[in-house]
Amino acid sequence: MADNIMSFSPKPLSDEGCIHRAPDIPVAGHTAESSNEKAYIIEIDHLSKWFGDKQVLNDVSLFVRQGEFVTILGPSGCGKTTLLRILAGFNMPSEGCVRMNGNDITDVPPFERPMNTVFQRYALFPHLNVYDNIAFGLKLKKEDEESIDRQVRRVLKIVGLTDYEERDVDSLSGGQQQRVAIARAIINKPQVLLLDEPLAALDLKMRKDMQMELKQMHKELGITFIYVTHDQEEALTLSDTIVVMNKGRIQQIGRPTDIYNEPVNPFVADFIGDSNILNGIMVEDHKVQFMYQEFECVDEGFQPNEHVDVVLRPEDIYIMARNANAMISGRVTACIFKGVHYEMTVVTDRGYELIIQDYNMFEAGQEVSLIIKPNDIHVMHRERLYNVIDGVLADSTHIEMLGGTFECEPQTGIEDGADVKVRFGFDDVELMDYSDEGDAVGTVSFILYKGNHYHLTVTSENGEDIFVNTSEVWDDGDMVGIKILPQALKISKVE
Ligand code: ATP
Repeated sequence: MADNIMSFSPKPLSDEGCIHRAPDIPVAGHTAESSNEKAYIIEIDHLSKWFGDKQVLNDVSLFVRQGEFVTILGPSGCGKTTLLRILAGFNMPSEGCVRMNGNDITDVPPFERPMNTVFQRYALFPHLNVYDNIAFGLKLKKEDEESIDRQVRRVLKIVGLTDYEERDVDSLSGGQQQRVAIARAIINKPQVLLLDEPLAALDLKMRKDMQMELKQMHKELGITFIYVTHDQEEALTLSDTIVVMNKGRIQQIGRPTDIYNEPVNPFVADFIGDSNILNGIMVEDHKVQFMYQEFECVDEGFQPNEHVDVVLRPEDIYIMARNANAMISGRVTACIFKGVHYEMTVVTDRGYELIIQDYNMFEAGQEVSLIIKPNDIHVMHRERLYNVIDGVLADSTHIEMLGGTFECEPQTGIEDGADVKVRFGFDDVELMDYSDEGDAVGTVSFILYKGNHYHLTVTSENGEDIFVNTSEVWDDGDMVGIKILPQALKISKVE
């Protein structure tokens, strides 16, 4: 792989030309880099975007090297397209700036930027044939016909459509139409090609073929590709560098192998590939405890007895017929054939559910043993151990927070109306089926299964996230009532 990867880093801001300046908030995955700044073709500097009172991008900074294939990856609604549209000049940021080759282009209109965009929907002119669709921009620029002809034939060759120039675009397959759209975008020789889910409308087989072709095109053209997708497999296949986003924030930036093997948090581990994510305690360097057992691992540099998240990839757990000396034993509860391997669900004797992938089949009901090797255990710092929420003490026994009013134990020494911080555990929250049964209303916005319970993110009506451990099954998007035991609320005054 080329050594132009891992090229993102936070850099000192020059305020010149930027729209306001966002506070410096450290972002996971950015590593300081001292190499030549001129190598960056694109610099996105502390970018934020609000639509009304909804914040869609939150202090996004990333730096792209000339010729790199960068993929912005994240779930629907995380802000990927908004970021790409700001890069293209179709949207203005609320804060921060975009530089290209060192020049601030935040205010430069799209048609003056040396970049082109390919959209999910091909946006071709239906009344023009393939040739004229591709030649359109050059004709507008009044280039001479011979030069246009030469250039159209060159890009037709690159996108594999030689001999298609006379065809009606309506007569082409989706994949062919997308090739025309790419040809039209690259004929202007942009320095940067922006691609917004360009393969999303294609069927699986066509998508796979086009992925290979795009990779080849990127190599041949030598230009910078910035690619948006929610498909993690596509990102892993295509990219030099992946930028994982969630809720408008960058979660991690790295090479595909780094993102897969060393996710920085449970969101990334869960979003990229299949994972078993469990609560653990890092007893000391190279010793981690989870599933009520101690395991040797290769991780170090944690605090003694630090609470951690442990990631086990399903393909890294060895499964065999039960034997008395095994470190973990359990019973297979489900087995599915996945084409190349089998995927088994195993419930351990101590009640943890693990997903395991193996070329050998172990049927449901079979007693099995498992081995986990030190190298295959990935330990991550736990992002949080309890909830801390801003609130206001309404009176001595009531707190206003999360868009509702909660009963608390009698407070002394804090006057009514004072701003307070409220702390409570993940296990102290009860979620109610009917939103009006709770003291506040929320929506389940992220679900993480942790082997023997669910760890949910619930977003309150006023947009704050709380974290809840539960054994009950909820769906993403479920509207819930939020109840918290009064004695669980630990309140302190904000000075
Ligand atoms: P998808 O993969 O579904 O396209 P995305 O990650 O690309 O999602 P965006 O399209 O950037 O996400 O949208 C992020 C959020 O901003 C969404 O909640 C969306 O509804 C909102 N949004 C986008 N454009 C606008 C707009 N013009 N006005 C108001 N809200 C917007």
